[in-house]
Amino acid sequence: MEKIVALCKRRGFIFQSSEIYGGLNGFWDYGPLGVELKRNVKDAWWKDMITHHDEFETPPGAPQSFSMVGLDCSIIMHPQVWKCSGHYDLFHDFMVDCKECKARFRADHVGSSECPLKPSKHPGEHDKCQLTPPREFNLMFKTYIGALSGEEGAAFMRPETAQGMFVNFKNVCDTQRVRVPFGIAQAGKSFRNEITPRNFTFRSREFEQMEMEFFCHPSQSFAWYQYWRDRRYNWYVNLGLNSTRLRLRDHAQDELSHYSVGTADIEYAFPFLDQGDFGELEGVAHRGDFDLRSHSEGKLVRDAAGHLTPELGPDGKPKYPGSGKDLSYFDDQTRERFLPHVIEPAAGADRATLAFLCEAYTEDEQPDDSGAMQQRVLLKLHPRLAPLKAAVFPLVKKGGMPEFALELYREIKRAGIPCVYDQQAAIGKRYRRQDEIGTPFCITVDGQTIDDRTVTWRDRDTLEQRRLPADRIVEEIVNRLKT
Ligand code: ATP
Repeated sequence: MEKIVALCKRRGFIFQSSEIYGGLNGFWDYGPLGVELKRNVKDAWWKDMITHHDEFETPPGAPQSFSMVGLDCSIIMHPQVWKCSGHYDLFHDFMVDCKECKARFRADHVGSSECPLKPSKHPGEHDKCQLTPPREFNLMFKTYIGALSGEEGAAFMRPETAQGMFVNFKNVCDTQRVRVPFGIAQAGKSFRNEITPRNFTFRSREFEQMEMEFFCHPSQSFAWYQYWRDRRYNWYVNLGLNSTRLRLRDHAQDELSHYSVGTADIEYAFPFLDQGDFGELEGVAHRGDFDLRSHSEGKLVRDAAGHLTPELGPDGKPKYPGSGKDLSYFDDQTRERFLPHVIEPAAGADRATLAFLCEAYTEDEQPDDSGAMQQRVLLKLHPRLAPLKAAVFPLVKKGGMPEFALELYREIKRAGIPCVYDQQAAIGKRYRRQDEIGTPFCITVDGQTIDDRTVTWRDRDTLEQRRLPADRIVEEIVNRLKT
């Protein structure tokens, strides 16, 4: 993991936030290559979830196609949203302090891979340690709207993007030609005042989520839950996460959130975790009708019989009243009115980016320009995710090669493909520079190019080199990006 963190810093993928002032715990900046990588992760998600969303077979009995639309909601929402969603009362972790070393951390992390008191990091073993009793800590960042700094101006930075989709359900139904089943997706920043941010960007206080709420008929909700659970798992596999380090884990009944009828986590064996441990990349939850109901009726709790019912305050009235709006859906073909069930695949853009980086990091040995064996560091990123798709080099800085290479470079850029031109240093060194940042294809212009307009195409992973007509390079890159 240290090597990956060092590479991220050295090559400009990820920096500590406000580094010149000593950094700020739990906050990170994406550098010039990191911003491209993370954007590619988010673009791949947007394309696969929205633009090409219905290229997959739907569950038996369900419609063969469905709509998917996007949203971009505000980060600060009406405070009542968080009261009705349950976040105001329930979105907390329990924290404990070590009386010996004053470390503060999450009670549920004691003894886990994320525990800061592992013997290697702490002189005593955590179970012999002096811990304070657990105390509740709400994870939402509080802020104040306008000139009022009192409680009447208090608001929260969203801890998830999901609520934006629920409160806009009616707007989307009324303005778009959508029919249930359909999905609403959004990617954007979320904030959580994590007690112990750690493990690089894995647990940050400001991060990006990619969430989708899929509204369906209650009778088909389990089939759709299964569908999204499998489809989301395959998304990571197709983008290069090795399936032995990736797993799909169903939550046990006692692990389920208050709203959830069923949840499965997509998890990755990050190198900073203990052997055999996995960290969450994405949760796929069957949320039933909890969200639409709570934004209509007010915050819901389970009664003794296990049914969701509005929570009452001491005065016998709903503790946190909902909007009072009817958020049910009327199917004009079946003439049925119902409250849709929701399946939610909720992913983290930063955790996905980190997993792709960890999976891609590879070391091998290759001969350098003099033939001596040298260690090579490469990022085997999927071409869709790589920050740069191609690099163009003139073999040497003479004989018309730079001019030809620059023209080819410009042609690739004009096709909208992120590409770099490099004429500095020996060719082997230039290849290794690109390998280390994950550029999948390098194109070299040499003496023969000037005679016959062919160039050398070199593949980062296989190191295979072949000659291709320069006029076919753009087409070749475009085709390789489709796979
Ligand atoms: P954890 O149990 O690790 O705290 P969670 O179950 O609270 O995560 P969700 O509420 O399901 O996470 O959020 C959906 C996704 O958002 C997570 O799968 C993860 O990818 C991402 N995410 C959540 N918290 C953080 C964080 N502090 N830093 C980075 N990404 C996060």
